[in-house]
Amino acid sequence: MDPAVQPKTGNKQYLRCTPRSHLFEQNSEGHRSNVLLHALSKWAKGEAAPTNLAKGRGICVNSHFDSGNIEVLDISQAQARGVSHELNLRIHADPYCESDETAHFMWFYFRVTGAKGEELHINLTNAGEGSFPVAWPGYQACATYDRKYWFRVPTTYDKETGVLSWKHTPEHDAVRYAYFAPYTYEQHQSLIADCQSKPGVTLEMLGQTLDGHDMDLLRIGDADDSNKKKVWVIARQHPGESMAEWFMEGFLQRLLDRHDPVSRKALQQAVFYIVPNMNPDGTWRGHLRTNAAGANLNREWDNPTLERSPEVYYVRNHMDLVGCDFLADIHGDEEIEYNFLAGNEGIPAWDDRLKGLQDEFCQAFLHTSPDFQLGNGYGADPPGQANLAICSGGVGQRYNCLAFTLEMPFKDTHYAREPVQNWSPERSVRFGAAMLNAILAVIPTLR
Ligand SMILES: [Zn+2]
Repeated sequence: MDPAVQPKTGNKQYLRCTPRSHLFEQNSEGHRSNVLLHALSKWAKGEAAPTNLAKGRGICVNSHFDSGNIEVLDISQAQARGVSHELNLRIHADPYCESDETAHFMWFYFRVTGAKGEELHINLTNAGEGSFPVAWPGYQACATYDRKYWFRVPTTYDKETGVLSWKHTPEHDAVRYAYFAPYTYEQHQSLIADCQSKPGVTLEMLGQTLDGHDMDLLRIGDADDSNKKKVWVIARQHPGESMAEWFMEGFLQRLLDRHDPVSRKALQQAVFYIVPNMNPDGTWRGHLRTNAAGANLNREWDNPTLERSPEVYYVRNHMDLVGCDFLADIHGDEEIEYNFLAGNEGIPAWDDRLKGLQDEFCQAFLHTSPDFQLGNGYGADPPGQANLAICSGGVGQRYNCLAFTLEMPFKDTHYAREPVQNWSPERSVRFGAAMLNAILAVIPTLR
């Protein structure tokens, strides 16, 4: 099946309840189908109702919402093992990614209802088959009741079985769990709506994705002044790295604060081109790493196409149109417990000027945010060995400009742990705001 034409709801899971014997059956494709509505309709006609529903009880799992992702294997009463409810779940995989030769998965996001006061023992049974299983040890699952405040729950990973597990007794009827605090497509739309109504902001819709979402670019500042530097910041080519859009929220709040002296001075010297979400299809679908066609967008910058990677095609064409003197591409890293910059040492254009700019940017960022550091990260590519299909390498080479990838942790910063939330939306927002100081430091010498 052509992944590009998969139905939008392909990975959305409908209401799953316990006991499953009442509510599940296998359909002709071997997938569990939801028989809840069927059961309820029988109930309405006076036939036998599922007993747990009739009492309004039962543990239900659902991911049929924006950015949701989970599959239910079974939900059982497991009192003999000392837990109230055992939930065996699987993460749904992205479409197959040709460049990476795998169907990625690690992102999960689902709601459990009927949970108040019940001890849940949740198992992500296929975690070990995910894209980066080496990243699970030390990871703590994210949880929320109000969809605003996200905390961590103690989580274990069994290397032998590849199962990621946590026990949790929710304080309220509904609890949500996710790989990281989501930044949904709906939140993205609110961010765009907020920003585009501020003075000096122009919203440009560059084109539409394979699922039909708009590719939104925010232009901030006077684009008619050719002396102004062209500063690009893009985020979330990998949709499961939701901290990248929290970062963008903080960055944009600061940039659009007309009382902020750093913003005021930066906008005197530069025009900002901002793409807060490079992958709205993957965001909505609950993907880890790819768009609707299974493309890893951060491997498409040498030859983007409308068929595979329209998101990159539109943005790169717009860069060609207006120019680019600086690019920051914002990501999250599943494994490494640091914020770090992946530089362009391996591109053919790398020289003393680009090295000086990158060093100056890093030093300024170090002074601005103690959450930034040097020394822990991917390490520099050998000279001439950079992959120019990756955004930062491709853009740095194409425009001979300072360009880099910035990574944040899914877990926490190793040197400054926060025990309740670990790395969080709140810290991502402040980290994004802090980057503006570092950009201001280099704007005068970008070209
Ligand atoms: Zn990434």
